[in-house]
Amino acid sequence: MTTVWLLLLGTAIGFLAGLSARRRPRPALPNPPEAATPHLLPDPALAWLRRAIGAMGVWALETRGTGAGARTYQSLDPAWQAGDTELDLIERRLAAVSARDGEGVEQLDAGLLVTAAAGGSVVAALVPSGFSASAQAAVRSDLAALLDGVGRRPVLHDLAQVRDGMAVETVESVGLRLAFQVERIAGAEAYVAVADGSTVRVIGVSGLADRRLLGQFLSSDAVLARVALGADGLASSLDPLGRPGGDRRRHPPARIDPLLKTGGGTIGAIAWRVPEGGTVAPQTIREVDEALRAAGVRLESALALAAATDQASKDPLTGLLNRRGFEERMGRLGPDRGTLVSLDLDRFKLLNDTLGHAAGDAALIHLARILTDQVRGLDAVGRVGGEEFLLWLPGTTLEEGVRVADRIRVRLGTTSWDWQGRSWPLSASFGVAAWPETTRSRENLSVQADAALYVAKRAGRDRVVTWSAALKDVSG
Ligand code: GH3
Ligand code: MG
Ligand code: MG
Repeated sequence: MTTVWLLLLGTAIGFLAGLSARRRPRPALPNPPEAATPHLLPDPALAWLRRAIGAMGVWALETRGTGAGARTYQSLDPAWQAGDTELDLIERRLAAVSARDGEGVEQLDAGLLVTAAAGGSVVAALVPSGFSASAQAAVRSDLAALLDGVGRRPVLHDLAQVRDGMAVETVESVGLRLAFQVERIAGAEAYVAVADGSTVRVIGVSGLADRRLLGQFLSSDAVLARVALGADGLASSLDPLGRPGGDRRRHPPARIDPLLKTGGGTIGAIAWRVPEGGTVAPQTIREVDEALRAAGVRLESALALAAATDQASKDPLTGLLNRRGFEERMGRLGPDRGTLVSLDLDRFKLLNDTLGHAAGDAALIHLARILTDQVRGLDAVGRVGGEEFLLWLPGTTLEEGVRVADRIRVRLGTTSWDWQGRSWPLSASFGVAAWPETTRSRENLSVQADAALYVAKRAGRDRVVTWSAALKDVSG
């Protein structure tokens, strides 16, 4: 008898201890400092740029940051005796410039204020009034690169925060976990779908379900898709996935529940059914509902993370992959052969200097369009420098790759392009390397393609050159 009491007492103490342990607030984690963001902005990039161009000051203004409001960063030359009124005036000019994308130069008492703005971000440099036109052009080009980095900063910042947090899940892992959870709770086969824009994709199937459907896009009139898109509410269907030819297995109807976002609206749906003869108790429905509510919220964050990751791997001007995105795509295992094409616009500086930077940007967008039109969906197209692009053509032989490059070269030369009514000839030079034809290791591809591109430039531009061992001497 005493033993029982002791046991009970022990359990009670254990329980209370557990409770108090759970209640004790965890020490608050310090907020990650700004420097935790994987970026060189604002420091030391602004100071580097200021010293490189000999400016009195360099500024970056973010108006579109997530969470925080507008923020200004600046780096001032310690030798410059700036008064408060001058600094105030510059801040006001930056705020005014932020309303409109584009570049500008303004004569202030203190010097020339060169600005560039895009998407709510502004960068500026104050340089001495005596700067020549070509020195100003160099400043504009440096500011353009800085602006690109500033525009990407909030995205990287968000990504770093999310990664630091505990709850980083991919869309697919939310889907799979939910499908298995519902199978466990209700003994049901389950299919989870996410609505991403106007498409609906199966992101989770449980163990009892047909695994071949994982990753498939659903026809928009499948009941699961309709519920996921919010066109229908809770539904019941014998064939929720709308499979071609219907589901030949005889089943009781499936129940299709929407997955809801925090602020209302649907983000996906789940179809689940218990095997013939099974029943679903009200308590089971309540438990499934609970799981669905939690999954809706997690799915929403996972989709937001996927979108942010996507943004971090893209070039904002052309929408092509940036270097990071390109390398990631190229690094994925694919067919055991492929061709890499490196290309660079010819005499692009002349175009910029003659027609202006905005014209240069338009020409880059024009080229990006030609590149995406001329390759297949599985090929990767990246903008990896100002006017430097890379194409990765997986599964393509050297011969085919050269043909693709030349097709692009001809297309670029024969498609007319003009800026504000003034036509301008565009051409590019191409270097091609292929695995396994020119190298046995994929890592060598980009060095070879770049060397071939260099030879194409030296040989007069507007041409395609294939890497061969002989080029090594020419390209040094
Ligand atoms: P080459 O035929 O030898 O390639 O000559 P190039 O003039 O094309 O080459 P260079 O590398 O000398 O000049 C590249 C120019 O590209 C310099 C820079 O002003 C410009 N540039 C770099 N990024 C951008 C951008 O994002 N937009 C615009 N408009 N111009 C850019
Ligand atoms: Mg060039
Ligand atoms: Mg170049």
